[in-house]
Amino acid sequence: MSRSIVIVGAGLAGLAAAFSARRAGRSVTVVSAGAGATALAPGAVDDVPWERAASAARVARVPLVRRPLAVDVAAFADALGLWSIGDDGADVARIATVAGVIRPARAHDRALLDLSTIRGVVIVPRAPRAAWDADALAATWGASPFARAQGLRFHAAEAALLRHKGERGIGELDLAARHDEGDRLDWLAARLREALVREAPRGVDAAAVLLGPWLGLAAPRAEALSARLGLSVGEALGGVGSAAGLRFEAARDRLLASLGVDVVVGRATRLEVEGARVALTVHGKSDLVVGDACVIACGGVAGGGIVYAGAGAPDRARAAFALSLDAPVDLAIGGVRVDVTSSLNGPDLDETAWPTPGAEGALERVGVRCDGARAAPGICAAGAAVADRPRTALEAVAAGLRAGREA
Ligand SMILES: Cc1cc2nc3c(=O)[nH]c(=O)nc-3n(C[C@H](O)[C@H](O)[C@H](O)COP(=O)(O)OP(=O)(O)OC[C@H]3O[C@@H](n4cnc5c(N)ncnc54)[C@H](O)[C@@H]3O)c2cc1C
Repeated sequence: MSRSIVIVGAGLAGLAAAFSARRAGRSVTVVSAGAGATALAPGAVDDVPWERAASAARVARVPLVRRPLAVDVAAFADALGLWSIGDDGADVARIATVAGVIRPARAHDRALLDLSTIRGVVIVPRAPRAAWDADALAATWGASPFARAQGLRFHAAEAALLRHKGERGIGELDLAARHDEGDRLDWLAARLREALVREAPRGVDAAAVLLGPWLGLAAPRAEALSARLGLSVGEALGGVGSAAGLRFEAARDRLLASLGVDVVVGRATRLEVEGARVALTVHGKSDLVVGDACVIACGGVAGGGIVYAGAGAPDRARAAFALSLDAPVDLAIGGVRVDVTSSLNGPDLDETAWPTPGAEGALERVGVRCDGARAAPGICAAGAAVADRPRTALEAVAAGLRAGREA
């Protein structure tokens, strides 16, 4: 009989663990409670936090290039089918954010427009939606050092992007879902073509079109739109909980199904290890989920895998942070075990919670104490659940692949 692995969490780390465990011939059950950090993230895929990479390159006066991806990470990305990863050693992708910044990325959701290879004029269509001020965005992106160095100009232009009454006010995810339909994509391509024709006599020779995060929920639709228009079209990087997160969930579900992974939707409340067996209690389910090993990939504070338990009460001291399930593992921050604090007010979050230049805050470092992927006998951990590891997408993938192999 094949070894069976139980995985808590279906973000990038849990999915990558399932991928490598299945490739190693194990049977896999994933237990997950719902959205985590991966589903909240807007679609940039970094190996290290991008601000740090950008500032290191600036100081060292070297170009920012795509660091090589490990073979198994590239194979995972290929199976997920969601990202553009580019070539090792090539210039990093450059993504425009709806906050007005152009930032580097090692890889990205395929719907996002990579500005690194574009020269000339990028059209930013106007749309009467509260979160999309094309004129302000075009001015801000155009003033960025990257745009100036690259010779990129951003030009806000009239376009009829909204087809139905009420689309001014519907949520971004609903608007993105409408572009899953081929007919709507044809319609949008026609409206963008009209806009380009209108701009041409004014000397605007468009090299690309940049839209909000609206191009599909089931899958990225930017390439299909680009093919229809004969021009690069893509999204700007949205905010927390934008379309890219739902596209991840759709791609994840397709990959889990193709791998033949059992999925239990529910919140794990307790993990017990007895001899060579692990048993997971899931809220509301009478049967335990059992296996030979467990991978904890429940995410960090942002994904709900680690909870702030606050200060203790006089009669009941407790540690300030706890895993979202009872499990025989330790939490740590900066290599130090998370324990009961001496103050009834808990840890001094004003001092420790937030990042400082060059160092992450406690909220991004707290996690399961591990030696490599190993957290305890029979238990591995991966991704944002692990203490003191970078909270990035590619870190979650690499750690998940390793934990799935070792479990
Ligand atoms: C807003 C935001 C923006 C980000 N932007 C970027 C970016 O631009 N680039 C980048 O590289 N990274 C970014 N990150 C970080 C990156 O997304 C995460 O580090 C990575 O996705 C973590 O993946 P994970 O699988 O470890 O955790 P998660 O994606 O959090 O997955 C954990 C899963 O476990 C589930 N879970 C938790 N507890 C339980 C339980 N008890 N029982 C069952 N299930 C449970 C959660 O519901 C969740 O589905 C961002 C994160 C956030 C929150």
